[in-house]
Order: sequence, then structure tokens, then C-alpha cells
Amino acid sequence: MRLHITHHPLVAQKLTLLRDERTPSPVFRSLVSELVTLLAYEATRGIRVEPVDVTTPVGPAKGVEISEPRPLVVPILRAGLGMLDGMTRLLPTAEVGFLGMVRDETTLQPTTYATRLPEDLSDRQCFVLDPMLATGGSLAAAMQYLFDRGAVDITAICLIGAPEGLGAVEKAMEGRDVTVVLGALDERLNEHGYIVPGLGDAGDRLYGVV
Ligand code: URA
Repeated sequence: MRLHITHHPLVAQKLTLLRDERTPSPVFRSLVSELVTLLAYEATRGIRVEPVDVTTPVGPAKGVEISEPRPLVVPILRAGLGMLDGMTRLLPTAEVGFLGMVRDETTLQPTTYATRLPEDLSDRQCFVLDPMLATGGSLAAAMQYLFDRGAVDITAICLIGAPEGLGAVEKAMEGRDVTVVLGALDERLNEHGYIVPGLGDAGDRLYGVV
């Protein structure tokens, strides 16, 4: 597993505002979107492209276009949905699939409650969006789901991660082509499976408590 932790002052500044408990939902949502676009720049470094010819007003030039099959972006519902807009802004031609996962707050185990994905992901590059890499259970399950359908490589974009979750994903995905891009690596998980210091419940902060 490759790990990339983004060290950029704008990422750090936006994460600071995101962590602040006083930041209201509308601002929180905009910050998530901006952060994802910054992280996606790094996460898409290995995206496959083909050479193409283009004509500028001055003459012919060589360029590239994104290869087929198009990359697949998969937000893990609910909180990953808040990251979709920032990702598709950078990668507008990507296809989007959905994976709904919820974790049992007692056992911290994930269960899948909704899927909307192509059955065959052969030769696809996939980007999984999940703001908080906490225990790693949901992310590892999502990655397994995509590899089982033929995905070739998977990059996860997470805003904040915990060492425990990174270790769990690395163990579960041993031997697979997996990259994790993080905005920050925090200290640890608390006894409720929340990242410390983290930012609280990302889904609640994006959408309110339901
Ligand atoms: N999910 C969250 O939203 N926050 C955490 O800290 C851990 C999991």
C-alpha cells in the first residue's frame, strides 16, 4: 500500500477550519469540497492517459486524454457524498458509483446497505472517497468489493486518518495495488472509534444529525 500524506499549507489551513467545532455545516461542506480538489490533484497522479493530437490557433500540438475505461469514483455514503463534488470538479468525465455503508457503533463493524456500481470493473482505476479513515473497516470492505469486481487499482482519498485504520487497510489489502491519500494523519482512535483529535462525526457535520 502506498501512503501519501499531503503537506501543503492550504490543506493544513482548510483542515484547521474543518476541525473547528464552531464551523457551521454550509462552511464545512465548502471546505470539504475544496480540500478534496486539492487532494485529488495528488491522488490522480497515476491516472492513465492516451496521447492525442490537438490544433491550437497557432498550429498542431501533442496532448493527452483520459484513457478508456473511464475512472470510477465511489463515494462511501453517507459522508463520502460530501466529497463527490470536489472530485468531479477535477475529473468531470469520471463515472460515479455508490456504496452505502454504515458501521455498528458497538462492534464498529461495517455493513453494506446500498450499492450502485457497474457489475464489471475490469481494467478500471477506482477512487474511493471517505472523509474519515478511522478503524479502516468500511474502506477495506469497499476496496474488497471493487477488487472482487475486477478493479485494477484503487486510490482512497480521505481527509483525516488514524494509524489504526491505516494499519488495518494495509493488512487487509496486502499484495493489492492500493494508494491512500490523506490530508492529515492524526494521533489515534478513542474508545468509540472516533479519530482524535479528528473533527467529530463527518456525516453529522456535513448533513446534520438524523
Ligand atoms: N467517522 C467519523 O465521521 N468521524 C470519526 O472520527 C470516525 C469515523
